[in-house]
Amino acid sequence: MKIETIRHSLAHILATAIQELYPGTKFGIGPAIEAGFYYDFDLPKPLSPEDLPKIEEKMKKLITENIIFKKREVSKKEARKIFKNQPYKLELIDEMEGKITVYESGKFLDLCKGPHIDSTKKIPKDSFKLTKIAGAYWRGDEKNPMLTRIYGTAFKTKKELSEYLKMQKEAEKRDHRALGKKLELFLIDEEFGKGLVLWLPKGAMLRKLVMDFALKTYLKRGYQLVSTPHIANLNLWKRSGHWDFYRENMYPQMKVEKDSFMLKPMNCPGHVKIYNSKIRSYKDLPLRFTEMGTVYRYEKSGVLHGLTRVRGFTQDDAHIFCSPEQLQSELREMIDLTKYILNNFGFKDFEISLSVHDPKEKERYLGSGKVWNLAEKALENALKEKQLPYNRYLGEAVFYGPKIDFSVNDAIGRKWQLSTIQVDFNFPEKFDLTYVDRKGKKKRPIMLHRALLGSLERFIGILIEHYAGAFPLWLSPIQISVIPVGSRHREHAREIGKLLDEKGLRVQVQDEAETVSKKIRKGEVQKIPYMLVVGDKEAKNGSVRVRQREKGDIGVMKLEKFIKKVEKEIKDKNI
Ligand SMILES: [Zn+2]
Ligand SMILES: [Zn+2]
Repeated sequence: MKIETIRHSLAHILATAIQELYPGTKFGIGPAIEAGFYYDFDLPKPLSPEDLPKIEEKMKKLITENIIFKKREVSKKEARKIFKNQPYKLELIDEMEGKITVYESGKFLDLCKGPHIDSTKKIPKDSFKLTKIAGAYWRGDEKNPMLTRIYGTAFKTKKELSEYLKMQKEAEKRDHRALGKKLELFLIDEEFGKGLVLWLPKGAMLRKLVMDFALKTYLKRGYQLVSTPHIANLNLWKRSGHWDFYRENMYPQMKVEKDSFMLKPMNCPGHVKIYNSKIRSYKDLPLRFTEMGTVYRYEKSGVLHGLTRVRGFTQDDAHIFCSPEQLQSELREMIDLTKYILNNFGFKDFEISLSVHDPKEKERYLGSGKVWNLAEKALENALKEKQLPYNRYLGEAVFYGPKIDFSVNDAIGRKWQLSTIQVDFNFPEKFDLTYVDRKGKKKRPIMLHRALLGSLERFIGILIEHYAGAFPLWLSPIQISVIPVGSRHREHAREIGKLLDEKGLRVQVQDEAETVSKKIRKGEVQKIPYMLVVGDKEAKNGSVRVRQREKGDIGVMKLEKFIKKVEKEIKDKNI
């Protein structure tokens, strides 16, 4: 028995139940869909989600009655007679040719081609559920009446159903678009522009925390900070090859005086120009330029999705220029850095892929086989030295060089591709990059592109889903909320707020005129890691009543002790 047949039969049973519970209902259509079914009704009274259990009960009762599905062929005239009180069915009949099939299940008759199960005996017990009610225009046309659509989901076993519902619930709870709204992190406003992210105060703070951590780490590891504009002359993009190979991802040109400019889709040409701004010696290498570079790439409006698919985003970008002899040690350090960064954001499981060229298709790649072998060996050796398992993909390299990609698994086991390390033989040629070697001879450096977080927007979208919005303390836009018990404790609460603020903690004082329980509830909704409740007793002995996210009240604590506790938690980056 096909699950689709069961799902479609359940749609009929749903209609049968509705007919008995709400006499006078006019029926639309009821097909099987992915993971379930629906039926559209024109009801004599409006329904709410609270009515679903009752309808579901009725369906279960009908199923136990072992209702037989009977198929009948009738003429158009007979069909018009059977459905004389059903205007939607009559509309469908008018458009039909030849014999019309009618299905009977209990007292309910439907226009239907089938197939159906022969008896409700075939419906697996407890493996379906009505999930939601929505409005739907008859035949999807907004000029038609709005009908009530009831959705259900159905599987072959109860276990499959509960697994499906659990996963749905989990993914829904973590959806970064909904959480972004609830936690007041970001806004995507159609009037401002599709696929363009407006960061609200808390989201902008989260973004800054992510950016600061990454940048601070890079600067500590020998990177130099650079900064380049959002637009550049079209001639530059012609020389870099983007005009020929990447144009469909770029926005149309802007005419300014006699020049044309393009919004930048990548940061590389700017960094290459900076490299070329003076003569480089072997003693200068490796040079590592990093930038939180904002780029714009064209995406069709249909594929845009929250933060994970946008039209403008900021990359934690970097380009490394080194001699061939330095390549392997640079890669080794970069792999360490990638692991360090991802670990700190709570991602511990990686999958690594190495994309190499196919020597049989030389014409697809730029540069000699000799350089390719050197670069691929270097990448492979670096991974081996680090004892990291990886998959090797032959022929998957981009035309200008081989690469390593890191994917992470999030808290519910979904895989996300994040970090990329690429070797590039193209740019050094196109922009004639050189350095002077020990013997005073001009040499070509090797260029590496790498972004470890990738797009900050996408990375934060993934972080929101990974943590379900409950960020570890160091990443929480607001870390601590101070709640005075009564109006006479407000002043004291503000003083605590000031003290914590001076310690560099991000704190809010909830001194509005509301009950403590209401303020606690608010803090819980906002997923604030710590709430400190202060009343008479606490004020008198310099302590606070601490509520920890998910744990609730963890008792009264001296304020200094609390500060030490959170400072340690931030340092350890524990959840
Ligand atoms: Zn049907
Ligand atoms: Zn690049």
